Amino acid sequence: MRLFALACFSLCAACATTPAHGTWSDRTLAAGADGVLCDHRVPEGACVKHHPGLEGDFRRVGDWCGEHGVPESQCLECHPDLTFQPLPALPPTADVRWLAGTGDAIGPLEALVVKGKVTVIDFYADWCAPCRKVDAFMFELVSARPDVALRKANVGSWETALAREHLRDVPTLPSVVVFSAKGALVKRVNGLDLAALRAAIDEASR
Ligand SMILES: [Zn+2]
Ligand SMILES: [Zn+2]
Repeated sequence: MRLFALACFSLCAACATTPAHGTWSDRTLAAGADGVLCDHRVPEGACVKHHPGLEGDFRRVGDWCGEHGVPESQCLECHPDLTFQPLPALPPTADVRWLAGTGDAIGPLEALVVKGKVTVIDFYADWCAPCRKVDAFMFELVSARPDVALRKANVGSWETALAREHLRDVPTLPSVVVFSAKGALVKRVNGLDLAALRAAIDEASR
């Protein structure tokens, strides 16, 4: 019992001295645009195990997991949710639009509501792994439902005009806002919760 407690304590002490985790850069995802993954399950073009020369680039922008010796944005041990699978292709009937530039202000959300459709406004970032799961979910949904409009806003970072405008009280990404076809705000879902998002869209569709 005593031994266990000691072991536990030393583990926690190790945690406390682990170098701080890095800030994700968009380099990894950008390299994954072609959908080619290596056997380390990351985009081949950005894999530091395949291309050790890239290490300096990632370290320079602070995108580095000191604990596992890979970029933070590629660390599947720290981020088991991480996936680089390419997003499904959208049919022409899908109503999807990217709003403004990365981090740019977009104005009041009510003005972005598409009349007669359920409107889903998705605040995301390239470095946000759970946001990719919202994409996979929403892309499939809008592919089947032309009555749902998806508007995507790339936050960039927590310091951008867009973040200051719409994410002041939002603790985490993704942050998805759902409006009914009549333009009423139905729900804001912060963090990855696909069940809540589905329920909000159902409610907005009634
Ligand atoms: Zn690799
Ligand atoms: Zn790690």
